[in-house]
Amino acid sequence: MITIKNLIKTYRTEEVETTALNQLSLSVNTGEFLSIMGPSGCGKSTLLNIIGLLDSPDDGSYQFDVEEVASYNEKQRASIRKANIGFVFQNFNLIDELSVYENVELPLIYNKVKPEDRKVKVTQMLERVGIAHRAKHFPLQLSGGQQQRVAVARALVTNPKLVLADEPTGNLDSKNGNEVMELLSELNAQGTTIIMVTHSAYDAKFSTRTISLKDGEIVSEIKNEQKLDI
Ligand code: ADP
Ligand code: ADP
Repeated sequence: MITIKNLIKTYRTEEVETTALNQLSLSVNTGEFLSIMGPSGCGKSTLLNIIGLLDSPDDGSYQFDVEEVASYNEKQRASIRKANIGFVFQNFNLIDELSVYENVELPLIYNKVKPEDRKVKVTQMLERVGIAHRAKHFPLQLSGGQQQRVAVARALVTNPKLVLADEPTGNLDSKNGNEVMELLSELNAQGTTIIMVTHSAYDAKFSTRTISLKDGEIVSEIKNEQKLDI
C-alpha cells in the first residue's frame, strides 16, 4: 500500500536547520499493523504527517497505492486523504457540542454520503466499537476510553484503506488504554491497515511490526511473530 524511498524532511528556522527525516525508506503492506517508536524528536510525527498526506517531504518518493504523491500540492493531498485515510489522535479531537452519533456522522457528511446511508453506517460502526448505547451522549459525559472508541469509530466510518493513530493511548489509564489497543487489534484482524506512533512498548505488542527511529532514520525493526500467526 505504501512505498517510501529516501525521504528527506528538513525544518529551517532563522537560527537552526533540523533534519527530521534523513533518507528514510519504508514499505507497508495492506493488512499490516505497524508501530513507530523512538525517543522524542526522532521524527515520528513528521513521518506520520507525511504518510497521512498532511505534510510533504523535501525530497524522496512516496507511493500511496499506485500513485506517486510526494510532490502533490495541498489540494491533491486533501483529496486522497479524504477518500483513503482515517485519523485517531492522542486527544481524541471530538467535537464536544455534538453527540457521539453526530461526531461519527461528520466524515460521512463531508464525503457527501446520503442521509439514509449515513444512518446505517453510523449505527453499524457504533456497534462495532461497542459504544452504541452511548449514541446520544456527548463526549464529555464519557470516559477517556469511551471517547477514544468514538474517535476510532469516526476514523473508520468512511471505510478508509488506512488508519493512522498518533499516541492513541497517551491520555488513557492502563485499563482504558488496553481496551483501545484491543479494539485496534481487532479492527486490524478484520482487515484494516493501521500505522501507529507510540511511546509504549506494551502497546506496540498489539501490532504486527515495530520500527524504531533515531535522528530521522530507522534503526531497528521487529516482527511480532505471535500476531503474524493470526
Ligand atoms: P517526534 O514526533 O519523534 O517527537 P518530530 O517529528 O515532531 O519528532 O520532530 C523531529 C525533529 O524536527 C525534532 O528535532 C523537532 O524539534 C523538529 N521539528 C518538528 N516540527 C518542526 C517544525 N514545524 N519546525 C521546526 N522544527 C520542527
Ligand atoms: P508528539 O507528542 O507527537 O511527539 P511533538 O510534541 O513532537 O508531538 O510535536 C507536536 C507538533 O509540534 C507537531 O505537529 C510538530 O510538527 C510540531 N513541532 C515539534 N517540534 C517543533 C519545533 N521545534 N518547532 C516547531 N514546531 C514543532
